[in-house]
Amino acid sequence: MRRISANYVFPVDGPPIRNGIVETDDDGTIRKVYNFDGKMLELAHTEFLNGVLVPGLINMHTHLEYSWVPRVLPEGKGMPHFIEHMMASHRPEDYMDSIERADNFMYKNGTVAVADIANTSKTKEIKKQSGIRYYTFAEITGLKSQIANKRLEHTKKVAADFNASGLPAFITPHAPYSISPKLWELLQKEIKPSQMLSIHNQEAAAENEMFHNGAGELMDLFKKLNLIDDQFQHTGKSSLQSLPSFINENPLLLIHNTFTQEKDINHLLQNRKAPTGWVLCPSSNEQITGQLPDIKTLKKADFPIMLGTDSTASGASLSLLDEIKILQQKLNLPFNRILAWATLNAAKFMGWDDLGSFTPGKKPGINVITGFDFNTHALKSTAKIRRIL
Ligand SMILES: [Zn+2]
Repeated sequence: MRRISANYVFPVDGPPIRNGIVETDDDGTIRKVYNFDGKMLELAHTEFLNGVLVPGLINMHTHLEYSWVPRVLPEGKGMPHFIEHMMASHRPEDYMDSIERADNFMYKNGTVAVADIANTSKTKEIKKQSGIRYYTFAEITGLKSQIANKRLEHTKKVAADFNASGLPAFITPHAPYSISPKLWELLQKEIKPSQMLSIHNQEAAAENEMFHNGAGELMDLFKKLNLIDDQFQHTGKSSLQSLPSFINENPLLLIHNTFTQEKDINHLLQNRKAPTGWVLCPSSNEQITGQLPDIKTLKKADFPIMLGTDSTASGASLSLLDEIKILQQKLNLPFNRILAWATLNAAKFMGWDDLGSFTPGKKPGINVITGFDFNTHALKSTAKIRRIL
């Protein structure tokens, strides 16, 4: 048994507890959370830590396999600049070391579970041996009809590779702007209705422009690189509203949502038949487009909000604490609310009933955060997180 206490305990399933104590079994299962109404009471064998205790964090959007890609610079230059940066980056020989370091970094920085995007199965051994729980989305792209079959075969193989290593992995389309109608047709036959999807949504304004009028800087880039069918038809609607209707049956994570507007939300509310979640990656948004999603607009749909770091090519780091700091500073949101996005909301969406809060019976992991301002109940810019259990 262990008893751990700190200045505050954030159980997430209830309000913060001043001088609370978290009691666990030897294997980390929560037995009890003590609340002495702020008083400091001594229980035998209690380890006291300075700072606040929070459950293990859940990162709902990474690209672990891109951990070797240098961060895109300068910031705010837009999606085409980012895509060209990704295409021009040369993979070093020791790239697997970067991936291993990234997994280790997330573990030490309090991440207990990750929903990761994979275009190859290169990360499977690292994921298999990791202390982190991984759920892999085998991502497919392809804007030319003639490559649709080949791309699907490749992505099916990626998912099968992970599955053969005992890791859950399922095919997901990358984004409305990166899939040809032919590939959507194949995906409709391939994707089962219960299968969860993770789709990059309205990360840049140019995505909407491409579908509204077949123009814009993203469209220009695809044409320049000869990546898109000549017969591409714009829909006159936003990119989100141009997604095929069959995916309305699938649980869906919408990633980024920086340029999502009220009419998109109404469209979702009218058409979605399965759970939907917003995943925000604010540091990546700052780096690529310089804009953050409008939380007030997103809140018009009662979908859970979750957090991701995106890859190191755009995100500040693979630490969710950095994402929380941005949302706190730039959007003036309370720490306690954002913490639920990075823990319980994700656990619920993924069906990970053992994670997300200090609820007795769960085994959520325990982190201590130092650099917490007890007057404002906010992270200081110097705040750090460390895994305790
Ligand atoms: Zn991404």
